Amino acid sequence: MDTNGTVTPAPAAGPVSTLAQASSFDKHNPSHLLKLFGAICAVSIIVILLLAGYGVHRIYSNEKIRDAEQDAVAVGQAIFVQERKVLSSLDSGGRERIHVKREDFEALDERMRNYLPPFNVYKIKAYSRDKTIVYSTDHSIIGKVDSDNSRLDRVLRLGEVDSKLQSKDKVADLEGEMRFNVDVVETYLPIKTGDTIIGSFEVYSDVTLARDQVPKVLASSAAVLFTVLVVVFGGLYMLMRKGASWLEQAQDQLRALAAIDMLTGVFNRRYLMSRIQEEYSRMSRDRRRAVKHCLSFVMVDIDHFKAVNDAYGHLVGDEILRQVSARLKGGLRAHDVIGRYGGEEFLATLPNTELKEAKEVAERMRQAIRTAPFNVHGAAVKVTVSAGVARSENGEEEMLPALRRADENLYRAKNTGRDRVCG
Ligand code: GH3
Ligand code: MG
Ligand code: MG
Repeated sequence: MDTNGTVTPAPAAGPVSTLAQASSFDKHNPSHLLKLFGAICAVSIIVILLLAGYGVHRIYSNEKIRDAEQDAVAVGQAIFVQERKVLSSLDSGGRERIHVKREDFEALDERMRNYLPPFNVYKIKAYSRDKTIVYSTDHSIIGKVDSDNSRLDRVLRLGEVDSKLQSKDKVADLEGEMRFNVDVVETYLPIKTGDTIIGSFEVYSDVTLARDQVPKVLASSAAVLFTVLVVVFGGLYMLMRKGASWLEQAQDQLRALAAIDMLTGVFNRRYLMSRIQEEYSRMSRDRRRAVKHCLSFVMVDIDHFKAVNDAYGHLVGDEILRQVSARLKGGLRAHDVIGRYGGEEFLATLPNTELKEAKEVAERMRQAIRTAPFNVHGAAVKVTVSAGVARSENGEEEMLPALRRADENLYRAKNTGRDRVCG
């Protein structure tokens, strides 16, 4: 307990919920919700960036493969048109077949070396219908049969173009030079005469340059997306923060209003009781840890207040109630709490206060009231109060017995002449 009547934003919901709120997530607390929203925003930004990065990477890579495939098909078709006389001949049955004479290799190589580099193609093979390599810029493989090549098989059977991206540790280019760590799109395309498939080209296109561009493309698209996301989510977060702070203020005001007695400005009975209950729970916890505490109560009642009302009217009575509570508060210490217990009855709770000290506090309160009359609308009204004091007994888990004793002592003070303290 910290103040004696001025409302602090301490929740009025009781000790158990107070502890729970302090230690864990509370879905009714705007700050907690705001933190959750911030975390969700951060996770969303990361997830969106990862997904978008993956998507951009896929789209860009697929596009590069498609470009390389289209180039390879165009190159293959152009080469066949251009070199048809060299690449094919008629078999004994008069059917055209893919076949290159050994003496044509050199001249064909030379033309390939001139023709292919602008298209990033650095290797081309020509297969006959029976999967024999009849020509390659790599002469060492000419004459080999690629019988287990399922992709080649499909192209020769169905006539469909087939492309695949492959990373290679090293590849020999058209000049016979070795290239290391390259990305190659291998495209098989059919060689057709009319509707008849007579062979296939396998074209190696270098897409290493495109691969090297991927990180740059990714970085720039991620930067743009990140900026957009930060602006959007940041804007939303700022809006939420404003809303949360407004909500917290409103909650604080509501709590304060719910805890205050509107006429006198001191705590109302409901709030007072919840604070006392908290204090008892704390004492009970401390008792288990062998820490000793006590709590004393002062119950104050204005003497003959009915007569004051009758003599001066209710409005004057109200004003006197306000001034009495202010004077009572003035006699308390910072950690004591006072509230309006009933109509013209106040209850002060004094933590860690023995009965003797509590009686002294009550006496100060009594003196504060009787010392000078109350000036209300020009009238000077003399008022006295009686007080009953009690202390929580050792081991007492409930507040009611102590409150009952304070009430009994107040009754005694009334019966023995009023304007006095009993305890
Ligand atoms: P006692 O010394 O025995 O306490 O006498 P009392 O007249 O003060 O006690 P009683 O219980 O007979 O009367 C209390 C009076 O307090 C009656 C009631 O009108 C008045 N009262 C209670 N609340 C208010 C209030 O909010 N405003 C005003 N003006 N009077 C109030
Ligand atoms: Mg009274
Ligand atoms: Mg009374």
